[in-house]
Amino acid sequence: MNIQSTFNCLCTFVTYFCALMKKIQLQHPIFHKVQQAAENLQLESFVVGGFVRDQLLGRESKDIDFVCVGSGIDLAHEVARLISPKLKVNFFKTYGTAQFVWDGWELEFVGARKESYQEHSRNPIVENGSLTDDQNRRDFTINALAAAVNKGNFGQIIDPFQGLKDLDNGVIRTPLDPDITFSDDPLRMLRAIRFATQLNFHIEEKTLQAIQRNAKRIEIISQERITTELNKIILAASPSIGFKLLDETGLLAYIFPEMTALKGVEYVNKQGHKDNFYHTLQVLDNLAANTDNLWLRWAAILHDIGKPKSKRFEENNGWTFHGHEVIGERMAKQIFKKLKLPLNQELKYVQKLVRMHLRPIPIARDEISDSAIRRLLFDAGDDIDDLMLLCEADITSKNEAKVKRILQNFRIVRIKLKEIEEKDRIRNFEPPISGELIMETFQLNPCREVGMIKNQIKDAILDGEIANNFEEAKALMLKLGIEMGMKTK
Ligand code: ATP
Ligand code: MG
Repeated sequence: MNIQSTFNCLCTFVTYFCALMKKIQLQHPIFHKVQQAAENLQLESFVVGGFVRDQLLGRESKDIDFVCVGSGIDLAHEVARLISPKLKVNFFKTYGTAQFVWDGWELEFVGARKESYQEHSRNPIVENGSLTDDQNRRDFTINALAAAVNKGNFGQIIDPFQGLKDLDNGVIRTPLDPDITFSDDPLRMLRAIRFATQLNFHIEEKTLQAIQRNAKRIEIISQERITTELNKIILAASPSIGFKLLDETGLLAYIFPEMTALKGVEYVNKQGHKDNFYHTLQVLDNLAANTDNLWLRWAAILHDIGKPKSKRFEENNGWTFHGHEVIGERMAKQIFKKLKLPLNQELKYVQKLVRMHLRPIPIARDEISDSAIRRLLFDAGDDIDDLMLLCEADITSKNEAKVKRILQNFRIVRIKLKEIEEKDRIRNFEPPISGELIMETFQLNPCREVGMIKNQIKDAILDGEIANNFEEAKALMLKLGIEMGMKTK
């Protein structure tokens, strides 16, 4: 065993031992500052929620939430003062919260509170409360764990709902009646699924059933909050876990019906097609193993989204989905709009990958010609590597030999792409002859012929008839112009 692994073992042991003792290690200097500030102000203070959960799981976190019995705003100011008089604290009197960033950590302070929801209003009535009141308002037992930061009990865990046990067993469960928890704030249903996906945890049966019963209430939640959770699911190691749960609970039909429409297999003359919902999830998981790029993962989700609309059964060919990539490209825009996802370069990128996701397939299948490779490079530009990742992830046949064979072909395509790119520099191809030069040479005003010459030069380069350089392109321009009856000046 080397020093590093001995050290890791020791850390795991200490963490485990501390959890057994219901204690947590609070090593970061911020905790001692909060302890000092809490003593100066005589406030009972705790670190609570996500940080405690993640610390016990050995996950990294970026934000720390503190709760005190009293004014969270006063506590934040005192902590900031102890760190540096220059630190700026943002605070919101109406909500009793304060926040500042220190050393890359986002620190939040709030006074312990009690929340009660009423049938007719989405916003709770908020009153000052005890730590227990504050733990009661939290969404899951594993998110309701608190650890004291006062002198006498530093690091002591307060766990009223057996959150430690749930953390150990990998269970998501609401502290109170799940129907009330979800009806009060329906976003919690998505959070349950998000945590189950990120942590690979199991949603306890009663909690899961309550999500099924309350799914429709997700409609009262703002699109921005929904989409934030959806993106967190998509960024998990196996996003399919989340999508299957969204589907099972009925939430998917409310928040993303286009994806539900991918479900199912239809048969004609005993011939079925693949279930495009499960296929898409497999593509997404395959891709997730190779990239953390959220937008590339979105391209996987949307690559076959046009299939239900293009589905036909043809006597000779069986099931076909002609043009689904073009329909998918259009649908991507509608979906991005509805989900309030960014409509600029992110959408353009996803649309391009959806539109092009079939392009490398025939190239890999047939004899690989240089000109097909050049055209692929020209159309994909800098997104060629991402397109190849998507195409490779799209191979989901159960026939292992077939998957191996196609992947091998794609490997050859990749080698060819590299060779041709090194030789011909097509990726960011700028035609070596500009429209201006054509007009100047033949004394033309802007007209159709200028475009024709430009296009023919581009095609000649992509087809390998001439090299991608100025001299050969200029020679071809002169030849084409003369053939068209033009005169040089
Ligand atoms: P992450 O930071 O990974 O998104 P988190 O659990 O830390 O996960 P935050 O949004 O940082 O989530 O919230 C911090 C804590 O506040 C949670 O751990 C939970 O105790 C509580 N919380 C957040 N959102 C809700 C909610 N909608 N309902 C009840 N409690 C919530
Ligand atoms: Mg957090």
